Amino acid sequence: MKDKKNRLVVLGGGESGYGAAVLGRKLGMEVLLSDSGTLKEPYRSLLVQEGIPFEEGGHTPEKILDADLVVKSPGIPETAPLVVALRDKGVEVISEIEFAGRHTDARMICITGSNGKTTTTSLIYHILRQAGRDVGLAGNIGHSLALQVARDPKPCYVIELSSFQLDGMYRFKADVAVLMNITPDHLDRYDHKMQNYVESKFRIIRNQTASDVFIYWDGDPVIKAEFPRHDIKARLLPFDADTLPVLPKEDIPIKGLHNLFNALAATLACRAVGLTDEEIAAGIRTFKAVPHRLEFIREKDGVRWINDSKATNVASTYYALEAMDRPTVLILGGTDKGNDYSEILPFVKEKVRHIVCMGVDNAKIVKFFSGHVEGIIDTHSLAEAVECCRRVARPGETVLLSPCCASFDLFKNYEQRGDLFREAVTNL
Ligand code: ADP
Repeated sequence: MKDKKNRLVVLGGGESGYGAAVLGRKLGMEVLLSDSGTLKEPYRSLLVQEGIPFEEGGHTPEKILDADLVVKSPGIPETAPLVVALRDKGVEVISEIEFAGRHTDARMICITGSNGKTTTTSLIYHILRQAGRDVGLAGNIGHSLALQVARDPKPCYVIELSSFQLDGMYRFKADVAVLMNITPDHLDRYDHKMQNYVESKFRIIRNQTASDVFIYWDGDPVIKAEFPRHDIKARLLPFDADTLPVLPKEDIPIKGLHNLFNALAATLACRAVGLTDEEIAAGIRTFKAVPHRLEFIREKDGVRWINDSKATNVASTYYALEAMDRPTVLILGGTDKGNDYSEILPFVKEKVRHIVCMGVDNAKIVKFFSGHVEGIIDTHSLAEAVECCRRVARPGETVLLSPCCASFDLFKNYEQRGDLFREAVTNL
């Protein structure tokens, strides 16, 4: 199945770019990795060690336009001038997952959606491993598929796919496709058109045949509205709140309705690859929540502190609030991606007593929620926000960091935001 195209250019040198370069080299291609910024460790050292040619701090257009095949990092938009030039010249530009998929016959279990991808992907992987299956974990979750195909091929992969990764996929086929939900996100990359984003998510069922499976949330109006636009060949396996779980709800270690959906989706995916309900139940029982997703930190002076830093959009915060069973002090704020806060307003009115804003510019949140809660406090740092929460939270209440926004105004990423929060709370 060797790719005849011989000159491979990899744009972007992170985990997926490095993996694509290694696979290209293994296939005997002439590889160049090119990154407009500085390469991060360990990838830079690894490229040096392995003698894979690379450039950083800018692209040399002549070399890149000369490629037979380009593997583009999902972070680089289609509108980047170099990508436009490549498309104009007719050079094939694909994602690392597409590239890797062309060089393996492994069974692919693929998960996408606006929310719940990482949890569901990790859960499926955990269940399969517990049941003794030889599987790999790949994609948006932080492990390169190409690298594993090159170095440690597996008969089956569980792959988290972002819409940006799906955009670069053409011939790839998911044997099991899971679509958790579709709510507005990343619209800045989709020309501010929701339909473009929806179509991107639906690429998960591209190339599927009657022997494949499509698992989706039946209660999602956006997914259902999209159905008539597609000639879906795969066997349909919908789930919703009435779907019977393989173990009592109380025994599912991850909490909230959204996590029940994640467990149901994982159940259907594992059944589709032949696991018994007993094996699936055993796997779910032993699963531990992924950090930064409704992660319980501690209880101090009767106040529970929860880190949901991964909630970077409205839908995530919606489900976090849904799962709250005590009066809540909510930390909101960060980089607003065009949020419509009205979706969480009913839960805020019902469960949130105080909002503590944490961001460079909190004006939109303050204006929107004023009059709907007992108090809104405007803070501009994590230390300040935690201190305010400590002051206002009463015994029997929960402090929830579920910011509804991206983290880039004050932090490097949501992980750093969550880690610093955990540290501050642990030191209270
Ligand atoms: P993703 O990888 O899609 O960003 P995660 O599994 O990391 O999703 O969960 C991110 C946040 O999204 C969680 O903290 C939770 O608040 C929310 N969430 C998780 N699963 C779901 C779901 N099935 N539906 C809606 N929201 C969810």
